[in-house]
Amino acid sequence: MNSALLSPATIDTYAEHSVNNRYVIENLLESLHHEDFETLADDIKHSLESHRDWMMRIMTALVTRQPLNEDQFIACDAHLHCHFGRWLSRIFEDELFKQGSFLKIEAYHTQLHDAARTVIQQLNRQQEVNTDDLNYFIRIQKELFDMVMVLFEFSVQNKQQFDPTTRLINRRSVGAILASEYHKRQQLDDYVCCIAMADIDHFKNVNDLWGHDVGDLLLAHTAQLFNDSIRRHDTVSRYGGEEFLFIFPDMTLEQAGPVVDRIRQKLADTPVSHQGNSLQVTASFGVTQLSRHTDIKSSIKRADIALYAAKDNGRNITMSIDSKAIMGQNSYQDFNNDTTEIMRQQCHRVILEKD
Ligand code: GH3
Ligand code: MG
Ligand code: MG
Repeated sequence: MNSALLSPATIDTYAEHSVNNRYVIENLLESLHHEDFETLADDIKHSLESHRDWMMRIMTALVTRQPLNEDQFIACDAHLHCHFGRWLSRIFEDELFKQGSFLKIEAYHTQLHDAARTVIQQLNRQQEVNTDDLNYFIRIQKELFDMVMVLFEFSVQNKQQFDPTTRLINRRSVGAILASEYHKRQQLDDYVCCIAMADIDHFKNVNDLWGHDVGDLLLAHTAQLFNDSIRRHDTVSRYGGEEFLFIFPDMTLEQAGPVVDRIRQKLADTPVSHQGNSLQVTASFGVTQLSRHTDIKSSIKRADIALYAAKDNGRNITMSIDSKAIMGQNSYQDFNNDTTEIMRQQCHRVILEKD
């Protein structure tokens, strides 16, 4: 076997670290923006496709015993010029990628080309292809593809979780977080969690007056301000057009109400400047507990009722509903006009104490 190649022991060490690789990749992907996931997934897909074609050419040549003299098979620097190699060089321009799994992927990729060259040189010299060399070549290619597929799966998953306009996680993905919080709420007696629904005020007017692009700008501004205003383990998601759903794990309603109202105040106090104009955005908020006594839908419906009470009471305010005050009337199936009205009567405005 070519001494310049990775030894099988080294390869095994790499393989042992594949769980660790997944962790490194997860960490890395956490620090990427959603746009990076979009291009990452596409780039990986195209790179793998071109490598698959390259591999097929080699396998066909080995079976038919036809020499392969093109640079992409025999040049010492072939790994730098193939689609995959060019993609790696490009991403390494960003320091963020120069770590763990990506460096390993690069090492594997170089070794794959070296291993291919060893086998192809034997073929071109019309020698018998050494079985160990061939197995090694196939093994490296499998290891490389396995690593890259992990990266691909993560990038696709992450790409699907985000909403491109606001960069927040979308409605589908927040469902999993709600389900996990709900599960904790049912398992642990002391565990509490609150949710809040927010809806931008008179947003249709913004679009009508300034155009859809400015509307999008204000949406992105609002989303970023929301995201910057919560703790690391809280969540804010884009739940609908100009609606946002917050999740506040480990918070009672007494704690979550003022937190939400501070966010509301901050939004109202932070205008967006656009072409010399200062545009104010406000939103109305409804906050309630994620109840363990009803399903998740019912809690969201309750937050919605509080939100619409905020709209009815003049907008740019926060209303809360205490699920304990309406016990027995808060199952999703029971939400008719009467029960909704009873809940509305249980809404209370959250007012921040002046410092
Ligand atoms: P309210 O205070 O009662 O919530 O009034 P509103 O005008 O915000 O509510 P309405 O439901 O009448 O209008 C919501 C608007 O949000 C209409 C829709 O065009 C706009 N919208 C929804 N999604 C987007 C988006 O992604 N971009 C932009 N620019 N506008 C959006
Ligand atoms: Mg609105
Ligand atoms: Mg709305």
